Amino acid sequence: MRSDSEIIVHCSDTRPGWMAEASAEDIRAEIERWHVEGRGWRAIGYNELIMRDGTRIGGRDLDNDGDHFEEIGAHVRGRNSKSYGICLIGGHGSAATDAFEDHFTPDQGRALREAIADAEAKAGGKLKLSGHNEYANKACPGFNVRRWFKRKPPARTTPMQSTTLQAVAAGQTGNLVAAVQVIPQLSGAAQIVAIVAFGVVALALLWVGRERLKKWARGDK
Ligand SMILES: [Zn+2]
Repeated sequence: MRSDSEIIVHCSDTRPGWMAEASAEDIRAEIERWHVEGRGWRAIGYNELIMRDGTRIGGRDLDNDGDHFEEIGAHVRGRNSKSYGICLIGGHGSAATDAFEDHFTPDQGRALREAIADAEAKAGGKLKLSGHNEYANKACPGFNVRRWFKRKPPARTTPMQSTTLQAVAAGQTGNLVAAVQVIPQLSGAAQIVAIVAFGVVALALLWVGRERLKKWARGDK
């Protein structure tokens, strides 16, 4: 029996059409085969799986009593006795910063919200929500679980991923270069005025950039 404080979401790292005609039971059996034959575990590692069509199926059930909620899974080292592991089928080629919708279906989104609500009901309270990628250097499950849950756009990891920031940087760099090139052509007093003005403009641009960066960090465009 676990004492859950957390739900950790995973993906199967399979392509969208993988075993598309197979039943949920067959898909679970195939993943169990990976875990038993491939890794030498006793059974499938996840507590629950969510198919492409949103079908939910229990995972590990060592005593075969149909109750997968009682089992301690094997999905994140050191956290299995305190977390409920849910695996979404799909996610191949995903990055940790992708959007849920890039790799999973709306039916899976609804099913995952249901699975979270059920696990919290079993635990008798709110649980921390995490993705495998927060505990391992992996993309799994291929999106930011907490941001998805709060219906926020995915956070980008580098400012270069923001097209707005790229455009602002390109435009302002051009302006500054043009301004600096004019300075040597001016008389002494005018040069000082130009340098001071240049400094003020540069500071203003830095401030604008900082505000843009803050917006970007919040996930706005
Ligand atoms: Zn995982």
